[in-house]
Parts: sequence; C-alpha cells; structure tokens
Amino acid sequence: AKSAGGNRFELADPEADARAITRHGLTTALPTALERGEFFIEYQPLVHLGDGSVRGAEALVRWLHPQHGVLGPDRFIPLAEHTGLIVPLGRWVLEESVRQAREWRELHGGAEALGPLRINVNLSPCQLTHPGLVQDTVDILERAGVEPHALCLEVTESALIGADDDLLKPLRRLAEMGVDIALDDFGTGYSNLANLRRLPVSILKLDRSFTQSMQQFPADPVDLKIVEGIVSLAHSLDLAVTVEGVETGAQAEQLRTLGCDTAQGWYYARPGPPERLHELALVDATG
Ligand code: C2E
Ligand code: CA
Ligand code: CA
Ligand code: CA
Repeated sequence: AKSAGGNRFELADPEADARAITRHGLTTALPTALERGEFFIEYQPLVHLGDGSVRGAEALVRWLHPQHGVLGPDRFIPLAEHTGLIVPLGRWVLEESVRQAREWRELHGGAEALGPLRINVNLSPCQLTHPGLVQDTVDILERAGVEPHALCLEVTESALIGADDDLLKPLRRLAEMGVDIALDDFGTGYSNLANLRRLPVSILKLDRSFTQSMQQFPADPVDLKIVEGIVSLAHSLDLAVTVEGVETGAQAEQLRTLGCDTAQGWYYARPGPPERLHELALVDATG
C-alpha cells in the first residue's frame, strides 16, 4: 500500500469518502429506523391568502437518528427511494398524518368556524408505481374515519412528465374518490402546460423559485407576468394555486394580488409538531 498504487488513495477527496460512508451507513440503518420508530412528522400550515385562515398542513418527514440527530428528508428520502424502503416509509407517513388529521378534528370539537383541516402528504414516484397505493390509501382513510376530500397527495411535476396511462390510473382512481392531487414543485420541470389537462390534478403548487423572485423590489416584471399567466391558466382549468416558500409579508401580498389561492412558508410558520398546528388553527378559528 506504500507503493505508487497507494498514492491514489491520498488523492481521493476525504470529504467525499465521509459522505459515502454516511450514505452507506444511513442506507443500512433505514429499515431498523422504521421498526424502531425513529421517524417523525412535522406539519407546516397551509394558509388561505384571501382571509389568512389556516386550512390545513403539509406533512414533512424527519429522522431522529441516534447518532446524527435530526436529519431532513433530503438526506434520506433519495436513499429510501433507491432501496425501495420508501414504500413502507411512505405508507407510514400517510397513516400517521391521516391519524393526526382525525385527531385535530376531534380536538376542535365545537369550533364550528373551523372546517376539517386538510392534510397534504408527499408521494414519491416509487409509490405511484406500487400496486398497493390505491387500496392502502382507502384502508388508511377508512381505519381513521377520515373522508377522502380531507386528503391531498402531492406528486412532483417531474414524476408525471411523460407519464403514460398506467401511471396515471391510480391517481385517477384516487381523484375520483375525492382525494385531491397536487402537482408539486410546479414550474421546475419541462411539462407542456397543455398537458395539464390530461393529469388528474386539482392543485398546482408553484415552486419556491417563483416566490423567491418576488423577494426583490420591484419584482422582475417578467416573473410577475409568468406567475400571472400560470395563475390564470390554472384557474381557467379549475385548478387552485398554492405557493410555497413565502418568507415575507411583501411576498404574500404580491402573490395574493397575482391571484394565488393558498400559501405556505416561514412567514406564516416553520414546520412544527402537531400541537403547534392545532394551536394556530384554533387561534385562527376563534379569533
Ligand atoms: P417539498 O415537498 O417541496 O416541501 C417544501 C420544503 O420547503 C420543505 O423542506 C419545507 O420545510 C421547506 N420550506 C417551507 N417553507 C419554507 C420557506 O419559507 N423558505 C424555505 N427556504 N423553505 C421552506 P423539507 O421539510 O426539508 O422537505 C424537503 C423535501 O423532502 C420536500 O420538498 C419533499 O419533496 C420531500 N419530503 C418531505 N417529506 C416527505 C415524505 O413524507 N415523503 C416523500 N416522498 N418526500 C418527502
Ligand atoms: Ca410537497
Ligand atoms: Ca414543493
Ligand atoms: Ca421542493
């Protein structure tokens, strides 16, 4: 190892090695993490831009790793997708957040002003092609006693680009049952806008990059035109528009003026524990 061959190792990027080791370690730890209950969910409110009320929340999964602490989804979702663990993990996220939605409704009891809080759950492309998706979703909703229209499944635009009918079939079935389908990260893919008509979606989630471009003042007039165009097209197709990554009141106001329906972002609240969402929604309903 001291010969010329050994030198090749010294040239290797030690940080890249460390990342590879962690990646490998995290990948092998994933299945037991699910068994041991190391995953948890944070909820981020979805706020109606017209009246500022909390209408629901997006479920965002985290991993409380015994050595590395809390890991965000970007660290482990790709690994779970690669190994197929995303199917049971995604099912757990769905089950847990639907159960949570039911609990919020029970807690709210008499708060008449408060409609049922809707729950948004992210679906990975691997879950879309898994044959159990529709039945699992039906079972989970039934077990919790939650009506399908309280659930929204978020699928990224890139997962549906060029999707054939086989891929769309389970989404269509779910949409027919009353589950909302949202097109996530909209505007980052290269989908043909006309293509939207064949997708069983009822909500467009405008990617954070659009919200970021509202940060400058005055905002880039071309960006404003693009958002305006997307919103008017979406509304003409009967789709609601949600914007993500809203960090300032000025952005919220700009996006409201442009006709967006619902917003999500740090300006309203960071993702947090379920009690937090419950409090925000209650304060909101009782004034
Ligand atoms: P996403 O679906 O686009 O979720 C929005 C991300 O933006 C979340 O990051 C959220 O914490 C973050 N965010 C919210 N408001 C703001 C803001 O005002 N400013 C900024 N800079 N960021 C904001 P997070 O929680 O790290 O999730 C990252 C991605 O991981 C999600 O992106 C989603 O694609 C994926 N993900 C999360 N949970 C799940 C899950 O249960 N299943 C699957 N398949 N993917 C998930
Ligand atoms: Ca999402
Ligand atoms: Ca998104
Ligand atoms: Ca995103």
